Order: sequence, then structure tokens, then C-alpha cells
Amino acid sequence: MTKQLRVDWPSCKGRGLCHEILPEAIQLDEWGYPLVVSDIDEDTIGLAREAVKVCPTLALRMVDARR
Ligand code: SF4
Repeated sequence: MTKQLRVDWPSCKGRGLCHEILPEAIQLDEWGYPLVVSDIDEDTIGLAREAVKVCPTLALRMVDARR
């Protein structure tokens, strides 16, 4: 099943670690905050899990994509 990354904005500190791990799916806006630009599939789920795990403020989570 396709997954999506979600950002908890009050928790995110915008340092872009998630972008460094998964730039294909997470870009940064002009202030350095993450923009989720694509869903997670089987090719990117490993890195997406890693991005969720390393987020220092637990601001990133993965949910089932809504269709
Ligand atoms: S790693 Fe976490 S705190 Fe850092 S930009 Fe990504 S979501 Fe925000």
C-alpha cells in the first residue's frame, strides 16, 4: 500500500534532516521547512522509515495514503 509522510508543524524545527535522507520525496521551502512532494512506495519506504526514525523532534510520521 502506498504511504505518505506527514509533518507535525508545531514540532518541526526545520533543519532538513529528513530532506537529506529522502530528497526525492521531501523538498525544503525557502525557510528550510520540509515539503512532502511525493508518496512513498516500495522503492522509497526504507529511506522514509529512516527519515521518520532520525527526526530529532518526532515531527515526521508515515500514514497510509488516502485515495
Ligand atoms: S527531520 Fe524532523 S524536525 Fe527536521 S525538518 Fe524534517 S520533520 Fe522537521
